[in-house]
Amino acid sequence: MNTGAPRATIERLCRYQQVLAQLERERVETASSADIGRLAVTNAAQVRKDFSHFGDFGRRGVGYSVSELRARLRAILGTENERTVVIIGAGNLGSALAGYPGFEMRGFRVVAIFDNNPAKIGHWVEGLRILPLSDLATVAAEQRIDIAVIAVPEAAAQAVADQVVEAGIKAILNFAPVYIQVPADVGARTVGVTCQLEYLSYFLAQSQGSSEAEES
Ligand code: ATP
Repeated sequence: MNTGAPRATIERLCRYQQVLAQLERERVETASSADIGRLAVTNAAQVRKDFSHFGDFGRRGVGYSVSELRARLRAILGTENERTVVIIGAGNLGSALAGYPGFEMRGFRVVAIFDNNPAKIGHWVEGLRILPLSDLATVAAEQRIDIAVIAVPEAAAQAVADQVVEAGIKAILNFAPVYIQVPADVGARTVGVTCQLEYLSYFLAQSQGSSEAEES
């Protein structure tokens, strides 16, 4: 998946968007690279370097206009027009994601939810009727679907990803704890919640290890 600018830069742009949304809610009108860096848990030099990949941003010493910067980042991230999202898997996770208000606030609209369990199809979740996964290609052909969110068990994730690709959807957010294989022209991200817990567990093990070493 080629992202143009470095992947870590794009990931930080998302963090900056979050910070700018917070500043806008607090009615802050201008912010310096140092302000943004502090709130995004990085530093001013990194913020300037990240922005420099995308041209000239604001004047030195004056700070950025929060609303202009948000609009600029939206244009870079391609979220200035709404992105349409479908969710596959109407279990606990998929249903929770369908109802998450944070998506809409950042320009992502969940337009359909799919499942393959006949007992669930036709039921409603968060105002959406659960559709059979066999309808995915038709829905994708009728509506422009930008992103598919996979919220099925691990064993089904690759087969579902293949169906998403087959339906012509070019971006996948995968919540199943397995890396899915997709063609080079499809963007895929896996959300590894357990890996994040393992990371923290490692951190705890390290810090506990170092305090044990100090004690001995
Ligand atoms: P529940 O027990 O109510 O199904 P859950 O969150 O425990 O909820 P999971 O086993 O994690 O369920 O499955 C998530 C959802 O994915 C379920 O609704 C299941 O029917 C659906 N699912 C499983 N395999 C597929 C598949 N191949 N295609 C589409 N949906 C699937």
